[in-house]
Amino acid sequence: MDCIFCKIIAGEIPSYKVYEDDNVLAFLDITQGTKGHTLIIPKKHIKNVYEIDEETIFNVFKVVPMISKALKKAFNPIGLNIINNNDQPHQSVFHFHIHLIPRYEDDGMILSTINNYDKYEPTYFNNLITKITNEM
Ligand code: AMP
Ligand code: ZN
Repeated sequence: MDCIFCKIIAGEIPSYKVYEDDNVLAFLDITQGTKGHTLIIPKKHIKNVYEIDEETIFNVFKVVPMISKALKKAFNPIGLNIINNNDQPHQSVFHFHIHLIPRYEDDGMILSTINNYDKYEPTYFNNLITKITNEM
């Protein structure tokens, strides 16, 4: 399979391994957006959140606290972002992964949110709830 993360799991291309068990691998993101930027992936090839099963995503998230605490102890960041991109506009490797991004003062990493709260009435929120819960 032409998947760069499957090749890393198979040892066909090198990685800077942070953690490994039967189900998951964690390794340093090659771009090191901030110091310690780490990816956690399942060993099973799964494209993204729309295809992942509960057990596999559990195995990935199960190791998040342990690795996050290790990053905190190792590098003393002021905080940590946990990011997961699915499809557009940001997923570039189509093998499910989550980013652990330690944050530092003035690290230049821009992760912005938009606050549209004051644009909407309660009916808007209630319509959203109806639409979402109808799909569950
Ligand atoms: P995303 O944009 O969420 O799909 O993130 C994919 C990430 O994989 C990017 O942050 C890349 O820097 C990272 N990446 C791609 N190839 C490698 C590699 N060979 N080793 C480590 N990280 C990689
Ligand atoms: Zn893969």
